[in-house]
Amino acid sequence: MPTPGVGARAATLLLVLGLTGACAPQLGPGVEGTVDLSEGGPALKLIYLGSGGWIMTAGGEQVVAGPFFTNPSFLRTGLLRIEADTALIDDRMKEHDVSNARVILIGHGHYDHAMDVPRVAHRHATSARILGNRTTSNLFGTWAGLAHRMDVTNGFEGTVEEPGRWFTYGPRVRVMPLRSKHAPHFDGLTLYQGSADVPRTEPPAHAAGWLDGETIAFLIDFLDGEGHIEHRIYYQDAVVAEPWGFAPDELIEARPVDVAILVPATFDQVDWHPEAFIENLRPRRILLGHWENFFVPLDAPTKAVMLTDLGHFEQRLTRVFDGEWWRPEIGTVFRFPPGDRGR
Ligand SMILES: [Zn+2]
Repeated sequence: MPTPGVGARAATLLLVLGLTGACAPQLGPGVEGTVDLSEGGPALKLIYLGSGGWIMTAGGEQVVAGPFFTNPSFLRTGLLRIEADTALIDDRMKEHDVSNARVILIGHGHYDHAMDVPRVAHRHATSARILGNRTTSNLFGTWAGLAHRMDVTNGFEGTVEEPGRWFTYGPRVRVMPLRSKHAPHFDGLTLYQGSADVPRTEPPAHAAGWLDGETIAFLIDFLDGEGHIEHRIYYQDAVVAEPWGFAPDELIEARPVDVAILVPATFDQVDWHPEAFIENLRPRRILLGHWENFFVPLDAPTKAVMLTDLGHFEQRLTRVFDGEWWRPEIGTVFRFPPGDRGR
């Protein structure tokens, strides 16, 4: 059983200490409540859960991505034991009916993407399969009771040059994993890096035990009754240097992305994020996810994630993107009409 990496825990402590002197980041325009562009027609509904968490619904089909609510404090994450706060997860998820969700997507195995998933899968999205990398599957191992519901992405990822495998979930949902990476958290250092090669028999006790594995992004298609794409969504849960994380050119050529969910956290650790992704995905709309401080309780006043100059990110975004984009507060609901691009 791997023990928590002392190096990684020390690095987190450095992160904690280093941040006490950080200035408040400058924030751009945000949104809360409901953004409804559907004019009462059929819609793609997206709910921001916080961190990398989203619920996506269209045509009666649902996809959940990276639900995470526990938000352990900096200190706890750096040095102490952490575990999913099941009462909090249940309290947050009871507002949403995801009992028929087809799949839960996990881009990498870090605790803020994977740790709350077992509770969500057993109590809420009870019929969903789980799509993630082999490391995440091994982190869940035998203790999480999810082995029979896991779909492992390794070996099936698409790249900018070549499509990967579509994982289909019922007649109207398909998801393609995209080969990506995880940008450093600061100064070129990525925390909790590594792979889990054997199934664990108990949950990792520390944040450092939640290893990332091979990070992936996802292309998600909601199809209509005839198999045409009604909504195409791109989802990433970590910043990455292009062309990692890109969608295959030939797929985007045929049908650009309707909604791209992009991550600002630590964007300046790599070049051309977000510019390169806007060029690759040609999104009609952009939503920022995983942008707020997830080391504080969910209902604390929202602030930008540490070590990220959100204002600078948003400035760069608007320089290359003239479409609609939002930085949602937790709980914001979006309703978008079906896309008609590339038909
Ligand atoms: Zn991560």
